[in-house]
Amino acid sequence: MIGIFGGTFDPIHFGHLRVAREAMDTLGLQALRWVPAFQPPLRAAPVATAAQRAAMLSLVVGGLAGQQLDTRELERGGVSYTIDTLESLRAEQPDAALCLLVGRDQFNHFERWRRWQDILNLAHLVVLDRPGVAAGDLPEWARARLCADAQALRHRPAGRLLFLAVSPQEISATAIRTRLAEHQPVANQVPPGVLDYIYSNHLYGSAEHGEICKQK
Ligand code: ATP
Repeated sequence: MIGIFGGTFDPIHFGHLRVAREAMDTLGLQALRWVPAFQPPLRAAPVATAAQRAAMLSLVVGGLAGQQLDTRELERGGVSYTIDTLESLRAEQPDAALCLLVGRDQFNHFERWRRWQDILNLAHLVVLDRPGVAAGDLPEWARARLCADAQALRHRPAGRLLFLAVSPQEISATAIRTRLAEHQPVANQVPPGVLDYIYSNHLYGSAEHGEICKQK
């Protein structure tokens, strides 16, 4: 099974890394692809450029066994629709089970995603717990696709829904950007190499390199 983890990663943080690792282990994924969006459809443009976000991801993901940065949405440009990404991945992997990992916040508005029903024909949907995000009632389509464990995903390439319990990670990129702009430390939320990159490139209104890095 192959996992796909999309997002803006503006910046990548320990919350992403922790839930991705746990999902990989629990699902028994052979590979996990991190797919940064060029322009997400349902939210404001990212703050860091596509190249900066890819650079931050590759600083971390490049060193993780079985995990890789997939830049197809950045190369495609324009609005990044998950359906387009899954169609191109499915063309490369006609038989593999594909697992699209999404946080609970994303799942809660999944029906607003472009061609969301078609997404379920191309991949399983694996929903990761996120602290502070309420779990609403499940619609009929979701109840019909729900399965209890990862084993059930192995037997078909797409179409099932799994809620995966992961350790709660009270981290968000928005909060990290706010803290950086206020010159507050974020070393417990962002990997050291990414933090160095942020300070070196003065991203997110962060303070000069040095002052805050001492707190690492
Ligand atoms: P922002 O605060 O800018 O919205 P974010 O922290 O949600 O950013 P994204 O890059 O938008 O980060 O998230 C990519 C994916 O990771 C999404 O599916 C999101 O739900 C999930 N995710 C992000 N942070 C967490 C977390 N702490 N716990 C579980 N899932 C998360």
